Amino acid sequence: MKVGHASSSESKRCAVCGKKTAHYKTYEQSDMVITIPACVRETGDCYDRVDVQLTATRALTDIKRNIKG
Ligand SMILES: [Zn+2]
Repeated sequence: MKVGHASSSESKRCAVCGKKTAHYKTYEQSDMVITIPACVRETGDCYDRVDVQLTATRALTDIKRNIKG
């Protein structure tokens, strides 16, 4: 799995602390890319604390719930 970084002009809530951020941590697996908003700060980087497994599991649960047939 490839781990990368992306930033966007669109800000979303950080997956760890909930603050608005334009930084994203990306995980690439085969043709699928998971993008998780995570803020970068001088102290206590949420970027390093993102739990991709937890976040991805939650996201997949949501996706499955939203797919109907
Ligand atoms: Zn944060």
